[in-house]
Amino acid sequence: MSLYAELHRHLGGSVVPRVLWRYFERNRPDISNEFDDYSAFEQFYTQPKETLEEYLQLHTLVESVQTREALPYFIYRLIRGAYIFENLAYLELRYTPFYRTPDRLSQVERIDAMAEIIEIVGRASQQSEYPVVTKQILCMHSRLPYEVNRATLELAAQYPEYVCGIDVAGGDAAYNIEELKRLYTHAQALGIKTTGHLYETKDGCYPELLPYLMRIGHGIQIPLHYPELLKEVAARGQCLEVCPTTYLQTGTLDEISQLKTVFNRCFDAGVDIAICTDNAGLHNVRLPFEYENLLTHDVIGFDGLRACQAAAFKHSFAWPHPQQPASLLSNLLSEKSGQVGQYVESSRQAVERSRR
Ligand SMILES: [Zn+2]
Repeated sequence: MSLYAELHRHLGGSVVPRVLWRYFERNRPDISNEFDDYSAFEQFYTQPKETLEEYLQLHTLVESVQTREALPYFIYRLIRGAYIFENLAYLELRYTPFYRTPDRLSQVERIDAMAEIIEIVGRASQQSEYPVVTKQILCMHSRLPYEVNRATLELAAQYPEYVCGIDVAGGDAAYNIEELKRLYTHAQALGIKTTGHLYETKDGCYPELLPYLMRIGHGIQIPLHYPELLKEVAARGQCLEVCPTTYLQTGTLDEISQLKTVFNRCFDAGVDIAICTDNAGLHNVRLPFEYENLLTHDVIGFDGLRACQAAAFKHSFAWPHPQQPASLLSNLLSEKSGQVGQYVESSRQAVERSRR
C-alpha cells in the first residue's frame, strides 16, 4: 500500500465540481441558475482553456465563495476526498489569504482579517476522522500590491503551526521582479521556506528569481527550453513541482508526451521532480490518476514514478517523520508477520510435544 505526498494544490482549484455545484445550489442559486443542469456546469468548469489567464479567472469564481463562513465546508470535503480517494498522507495546500477576506473592506482592514483566515483554514484542516498531515503555503500574488504580499509572508512566519512556506502565484507575465526579490529576501531572513510559480509558461522565465526558491512551481520551461540551467538547479537541490494536467488545461503544452523531455532531462541532470495536481477539482483529476496517466502515456516508468513519489516527501516543507509512510508501513507489516511467524512456530512445537 502506498501513501502519497502532494506539494502543489490550490485551495481555490481543489473543489471538485460536484461539491461546488451542491454548494451553489444550496447557497448561491444565482450562480447555479445560470446553468441548465449539473453537466452543463461541469463542462464549463473543467473544460480546457486557451490561456493561463483565462484559466486563472475560474479561481476568482471559487475564491468569491470561499469566505470565512464557507471555508470549513470546502476544506472538510477536500481532506475527506484526499484521504479516501487519493491516499494522501501529506498535503501542502496553497492559497492567497487576502482573496478570502471580504472585498467590501478597505485594504488595511482586509490585511488585518488575513490572520483569522489562516486560523480557520488551519483548524478545518485538522481532522481526526481523516488524518492527513496538512500545512498551508501562503501565496503572494502578482496582482496584489507590495504591502499585501509583505503582510502575507510575515503572517507565514507568525503561524508556523499552520503555515510551512510561501509561494508567488497569479499570472506570471505580471511579475514585478524587483518587488519579488525584496519579498523573497525578507522571507529568507525570517526563515520561511520558499516555492514560486516560475518557468511555467514562456512568459514566466525569470532566472534572477531562481536562487530564492527551494522548490520551483512547475519549472517545466527549464528542461524544455533552458536545459543549460539544470546543472545549477541540481546544485541548489531544487525540486520541480510538475503538474501534468495543468499544461493541457492552460494551453501551455499540446500533448502529455511533451513531458517526456521534462522528466528525462531532469533525471539525467539529477533534478528531483514531485508530481502534483495543482487544481485537482478544476481538472476533475486526482493525484493517483496523474501518476497512472504518466505511466500509460509512457512519459515515465515505474522506477521514475517511485523516485518522484519519494522526492515529494524528501522536498516537503513539513513532513514530520524521518521516514516515508511506505517504510513505516513496511516495518509495521513485517513486525506483524514476524509475530504471526513466532505464533505458528510455537504452536507447531506444542503439537510436536503433545505427540511425544
Ligand atoms: Zn499552481
